[in-house]
Amino acid sequence: MQENLNLAERDKKHLWHPLTQHKTASDAIGITKAKGVKLYDESGKEYIDGISSWYTCVYGHCNEFITDRVAARMKNLDQVVFSGFTHQPAVELSEALIKILPEGQQKLFFNDNGSTATEIGIKMALQYHHNLGNDRKVMLAFEEGFHGDTFGAMSVSSLSVYNGAFEDHFIEVQRIPVPTGDNNSEVIEKLQQLIQNHNFAGFIYEPLVQGAAAMKMHDKEGLNQILKICKENEIICVADEVMTGFGKTGSYFASDYIATKPDVVCMSKALTAGLLPMGLTSCSQKIYDAFYSEDIAKGLFHGHTYTANPLACTAALAGVELLTSEAMQANIKRIEKLHQDFGEKIKNHPKVSNIRQLGIIFAFDLNVKMERYGNLRNQLFRYFMDHGVFLRPLGSTIYITAPYITSDEEMQKIYDVIEGVFEQF
Ligand SMILES: *Cc1c(COP(=O)(O)O)cnc(C)c1O
Repeated sequence: MQENLNLAERDKKHLWHPLTQHKTASDAIGITKAKGVKLYDESGKEYIDGISSWYTCVYGHCNEFITDRVAARMKNLDQVVFSGFTHQPAVELSEALIKILPEGQQKLFFNDNGSTATEIGIKMALQYHHNLGNDRKVMLAFEEGFHGDTFGAMSVSSLSVYNGAFEDHFIEVQRIPVPTGDNNSEVIEKLQQLIQNHNFAGFIYEPLVQGAAAMKMHDKEGLNQILKICKENEIICVADEVMTGFGKTGSYFASDYIATKPDVVCMSKALTAGLLPMGLTSCSQKIYDAFYSEDIAKGLFHGHTYTANPLACTAALAGVELLTSEAMQANIKRIEKLHQDFGEKIKNHPKVSNIRQLGIIFAFDLNVKMERYGNLRNQLFRYFMDHGVFLRPLGSTIYITAPYITSDEEMQKIYDVIEGVFEQF
């Protein structure tokens, strides 16, 4: 043991971090504890987790309601094969989720993370048509979408700009711009043209908010029109709710705001309340029926070893119970209102533009001259961390997706630190 070295130094010897160019990146910060809305680093400094650790631990870190349930479960059921076996945590989770999922969702397929959740959504769309004997192999997606880092998910994402080594292996994808209200008729026109010229199997979309595109928000009616046209043309609608799911938009799912419902819904991130990795892809009876056959090859032959891990299911079920509780719904409303007030307060500030909010998601763009600051994003990140708030700006966009249990005082601290940026930059 190299006890004289701290975590950040020992990390560099053997660890390779995601989304990181190690030659130019700064050292990783050693985190020793995460509890409630706070992260603690090895020097003893604490940070408010203003982004719920990438939208996962929305009920707070190490929430005892969840950890107690998982601790009890792990004493008598850890892992079991989900082909041929089933178990109480998966059954109970399915019953609880069907009650809150968008109308029409009927069957749940488990996987490990958000990328495989969308990967399976894409596979469901492609194989649905394959099984019906339709020649449809093209996917439709939004410009600036992000759906994950496995091959199918990378193919439909347009934001993954560092994919040069893999692009020759992508599935075929056509894109439309997101509807903003003003451009709805142009988007619809482009969609109709594309439909005439391509055999689309499915449309994958982040409903209403594109997280990785710096919290870009869409027009509800525009999205509804797109989905309606897709449905009329037998294009399977795959809602990627990996980021938007489980209360962040103020409703259980973003799809709740849109009249036309998806055929398939992809979930991960807050699904297990940030405790354990898991993904889920749900679908309607119509999709399932296209795989239900005497012919074994028509089945969905996709499976991960840890599929429906009982502990992850237990965490997810406890999470759904928290989400649907009156107390948590009141918290979501409370934070929505705090965001609205903060938005009102800063909206006329010369350094603020393009304020957008849906539920507990709040974002705006910082108007500063980029050339004056070089890598603005890194400097903002450092400023926030120095002031005890963990926020990860995307370019010049500052966004908040704090846990629902963040107190008024803690929210105020996040807002104060953000206002501090207006003086500093
Ligand atoms: C994070 C994310 C993914 C990928 O999930 P991972 O668990 O990181 O693989 C897919 N889609 C959306 C919308 C996401 O936000």
